[in-house]
Amino acid sequence: MKILVINAGSSSIKYQLIDMDGEKLLAKGLVERIGSSSAQLTHKVNGKAVEVKRPMKDHSEGLELVLKMLVDKENGVISSLDEISAIGHRVLHGGGKYGEATLVTPEVMKDLKSFIPLGPLHMPANIQGIEACQKVMKGKKNVCIFDTAFHATMPDYAYRYAVPYAWYEKYGVRKYGFHGTSHEYIAKELAKEMGKDISQLRIISCHIGNGASVAAVKYGKCVDTSMGFTPLEGLMMGTRSGDIDPAVVEFIMDKEQENVVDVLNALNKKSGLLGVTGISNDIRDIIKAKEDGDDRSRLAIDMFCYSIKKYIGAYSAVMGGVDAIAFSAGTGENRADIREQVMDGLDYLGVAFDNDENNNFVRGVNYKISKDSSKVAVYVIPTDEEMSIARQTKAVVERA
Ligand code: AMP
Repeated sequence: MKILVINAGSSSIKYQLIDMDGEKLLAKGLVERIGSSSAQLTHKVNGKAVEVKRPMKDHSEGLELVLKMLVDKENGVISSLDEISAIGHRVLHGGGKYGEATLVTPEVMKDLKSFIPLGPLHMPANIQGIEACQKVMKGKKNVCIFDTAFHATMPDYAYRYAVPYAWYEKYGVRKYGFHGTSHEYIAKELAKEMGKDISQLRIISCHIGNGASVAAVKYGKCVDTSMGFTPLEGLMMGTRSGDIDPAVVEFIMDKEQENVVDVLNALNKKSGLLGVTGISNDIRDIIKAKEDGDDRSRLAIDMFCYSIKKYIGAYSAVMGGVDAIAFSAGTGENRADIREQVMDGLDYLGVAFDNDENNNFVRGVNYKISKDSSKVAVYVIPTDEEMSIARQTKAVVERA
């Protein structure tokens, strides 16, 4: 069975075609700048890239080009679109209603449209991606994989905010959590790697990329996560502030004579590592600047690692202990120095961190970075959201 995975952004479509027999990636690519005259498709097969530049007025045109490429004589990987069994779509928000991957029906589409206020940047693009597939590949099954779904098992006392009750009842103001597809993949992969059943493990999953979040996964179910009503809450990130006192918003509006949209934009796009360093949101640039003596870069890294450590402590408390911790995503998978700083001083939890293994880790594979004697296993687990989407799509299609 071959599954096409689609991740549609406002002007882009990321895609992967995966053969589920052997879970093999056949092709992947990206359509960028959709809606402009300089749109571009980059299609990759076995690491070899092909580029096509041409104007594309909407997502349907972008998708048509992708499909043409998939069956192309020279660069294609299938002989006919009939080989594609179903399409799995990454969807930002399940609005607290969808706790698992769901087959697209007219009713689901209606619900997705009603979730637009909860994700005004991503939801319209996700919907366009599905509509493009419905138009261009008539009759194929489409499945939504929600970024919030894995967090649907959080207890009410974890996901509710202590705000006027009516805000929740009228508008759904609560913690939803994001990166769910990634946290689910990481937790399952970690349990598999440890040779244990996930139902026996208390796991803290750290997805540390430009966007960053931590999830507490107790016996297979998410019980808390650091992102909130939007991805702004929680850890310090590449450009997002993470947790702050909301009173700062009005204070800065007043001082800088800005409106609320400007201040929220600054909290989402000009804060975090970028805001503190004034140099970059990329951890590589910041570590280099720190090594060159830049004290704001030292401060940003200390704040970043401290915020991850704080959530690890909080989540081990809420789960009554922790059996395993996983590091994942761009920074979590690649930066031994950040992992070391986060784990420093966590011996009290029963962590025996292995600095040698941490420094000698192998990129791109599951890798243990704690000693055999450690009560808490610590691993690097490369995340693979597309594979997770493909697996869930297959499961939904087989059930349907
Ligand atoms: P992501 O959002 O998961 O793509 O992660 C982005 C972050 O990961 C950036 O801060 C990058 O500096 C970091 N990163 C990605 N790849 C590497 C790498 N090969 N070595 C070091 N850092 C990396």
